[in-house]
Amino acid sequence: MEALILLVIGVVALPFLLLASRHDGGKGTGGGASSPRPRRTRCPNCGSPVIDHGSYWECGWCGDYGQN
Ligand SMILES: [Zn+2]
Repeated sequence: MEALILLVIGVVALPFLLLASRHDGGKGTGGGASSPRPRRTRCPNCGSPVIDHGSYWECGWCGDYGQN
């Protein structure tokens, strides 16, 4: 039972840890948007063009979505 809980916590926390470590490596210039992130134009799930909603994207084909 405890192993299952630990597994769930690990699965939930892993993406956050990956994101945090990715942001850590940048230069600490502190300011505005130095390098704009490339926006997703294709669905990673089915490869169809996605609809850009500004802060997030949505696939009109398979319904997948995510943050820009
Ligand atoms: Zn899709």
